[in-house]
Amino acid sequence: MKEYIDRKEAISAIREYRGYFQDQKSTDMMLLKMEAENILKDLETFDIVPVVHGKWIYTGKEMWRCNNCDNEIAGYDKMPSEYGVNYCDRCGAKMDEVEE
Ligand SMILES: [Zn+2]
Repeated sequence: MKEYIDRKEAISAIREYRGYFQDQKSTDMMLLKMEAENILKDLETFDIVPVVHGKWIYTGKEMWRCNNCDNEIAGYDKMPSEYGVNYCDRCGAKMDEVEE
């Protein structure tokens, strides 16, 4: 599985890094950091959206409510996820939270 990092945070971490190469001449250190920044800037970017998790809550008469946005859907005698309705069609929450 791919893992993603925030480019701005990565560049900031490089700029603030004070590690093993701390004893290098400051110009060498600065050049190393600039090279690392340029590598990160050249990498491909992706639009990533955080996953919002939710769950269906039964409200009666085959009605289910999204616990994240209160959207209601009708016509399911069992948990909508059992019919393949795994996302709220209003807020996009992934309905994989379980009752505690
Ligand atoms: Zn929702």
